[in-house]
Amino acid sequence: MIYLVIPCYNEQEVLEDSTKKLASLIGRMQGEDMRILFSDDGSRDETWNIICKLHHQYPFVEGIRLAHNEGHQKALWAGMEAAADRAEAIISIDADLQDDIEVIPRMVADFRQGADVVYGVRKERDTDSAFKRLTALTFYRLMNTLGSHLVYNHADFRLLSRRALLALLSFPERNLFLRGMVPMLGFNEQTEYYNRLQRQAGISKYPLSRMIALAMDGITSLSVKPLRWIGAAGVCSILVAIGVIIWALVQHTTGHTIPGWTSLLVSLWLIGGMLLMAICVLGEYIGKVYQGVKRRPHYFIMDSIGREPEK
Ligand code: UDP
Ligand code: MG
Repeated sequence: MIYLVIPCYNEQEVLEDSTKKLASLIGRMQGEDMRILFSDDGSRDETWNIICKLHHQYPFVEGIRLAHNEGHQKALWAGMEAAADRAEAIISIDADLQDDIEVIPRMVADFRQGADVVYGVRKERDTDSAFKRLTALTFYRLMNTLGSHLVYNHADFRLLSRRALLALLSFPERNLFLRGMVPMLGFNEQTEYYNRLQRQAGISKYPLSRMIALAMDGITSLSVKPLRWIGAAGVCSILVAIGVIIWALVQHTTGHTIPGWTSLLVSLWLIGGMLLMAICVLGEYIGKVYQGVKRRPHYFIMDSIGREPEK
């Protein structure tokens, strides 16, 4: 069977409507045993009750409920781990169905023809604000410069075959940045393009602060280049300092008195700022190591529905 894995956090406004749309899609996909697995990421609203209701309404709806809000990536991870026991493939998609569900049959067709990873890629981002588009573009550029390969305009709408899923789940790392990890798998990759739609209802659960956190996570869990940049910045600042010393000596020998304190103050601030920045980047990585060695579980499942073992 093929699982649609859907992380949901406070999605009471969209869940029923989304499920109805998916149900009609599943009805059209003759010959495929499609299931929906909701991963409730510790929602504080009616989300879990709605999932239970939907399970009684639609036999193919299942759910797990995390004990705490762990964030999109971990909720998705939890859903994928839960689905892994039965799924021959999984498709991850957001609860608000901003990603065009008409792509799902195409993904499944690719899978039937031997694809292990099918990326859903947005053609354009008309429905996103100019700000979101700019920040996203900057982020992709930055990530590529940093040497980790992201599929441009691909978020977390993708199909994974069973072997790709098991390979992904075997990554032991604690810091999850799935869209950076999947391209490391290899296997047979395919891409399907679609237009991203508006969120149907409710508000985005990804405010700027979360976007920045995700970007930082992406950078520091996939690349060590920022550490080298610190080194390069250090070398540059030493070169500047040497230049200033030479200049000061020349000024001194030609008899100019230097008022001095401006340049001193400037360099003080400059060096101070660079040091703080360097410490901050180092701290990020040490934090990652710290999180990593603790090996805390990603999540705890508090409830589940429709997950009884198959007879
Ligand atoms: N989500 C989640 N946990 C969180 C935040 C978000 O499971 O802590 C889910 C959310 O329910 C949705 C998906 O992640 O299914 C993407 O969130 P959203 O649509 O708000 O993000 P955007 O599309 O604005 O980037
Ligand atoms: Mg969304």
